[in-house]
Amino acid sequence: MPLINIALDGPAGAGKSTIGKILSLRLSYDYLDTGMLYRSIAWWFYAIGWEEGLDISEAISNLEIISGSEPGFCRVVINGIEPPFDKIYSREIANLSSKISIYKEIRDIVNKITRIAAELKGMVIEGRDIGTVVLPEAEVKIFLTASNEELARRRYKDLQKMGERIPYEVVLAEIIERNIRDSTREIAPLKPAPDAIYIDSTNLKIQEVIDKILLVVKDKI
Ligand code: C5P
Repeated sequence: MPLINIALDGPAGAGKSTIGKILSLRLSYDYLDTGMLYRSIAWWFYAIGWEEGLDISEAISNLEIISGSEPGFCRVVINGIEPPFDKIYSREIANLSSKISIYKEIRDIVNKITRIAAELKGMVIEGRDIGTVVLPEAEVKIFLTASNEELARRRYKDLQKMGERIPYEVVLAEIIERNIRDSTREIAPLKPAPDAIYIDSTNLKIQEVIDKILLVVKDKI
């Protein structure tokens, strides 16, 4: 069977990671989460004390990032350190990652890693701009979304599992703020590619979303 690339874009909380991992396992494709790359860079920036408004050139001058992909799993090593999962998925780093991802220099780093990884095909790649900017030639492009309330509910559940006690209303406000920032930035804003398949997962189970995507993939292959 010919190998293809699958771009999986959408707002925070849409379930891209859950869907992307299962999909990659079902297809035996490698899985790359570009959000994890932005989060890892944000984690590094946080560790070195970078704050909004400061120049980023020095912060990125010695950045060495390695990403590894396999079915259902993705890992990032930054300057020899694997950022702790609970740190990169904290609210603080989620919000910082959205702030640093507006910089072209940072997007260039992530895009280069992504394009190299996608060269051999057979990948599920999730992000915000994969179908529009990074890999517009991807054979399948999915834009996965849900209502703001549902996006927040999913994120709220994830945070609870991680032990973060935070009111649902705060999660909702943060997710709306992050998705507005990601959608309205000048460079590579979050939006569906013109030829993307749009899936609203508000009332769908995970398996139903997977089935819809697998149908598109099978048709393409
Ligand atoms: O997908 P995830 O929530 O882990 O992404 C964290 C942040 O990284 C997003 O809010 C967004 O600002 C940024 N991002 C991006 N482009 C991508 C993937 C993520 O700007 N392709």
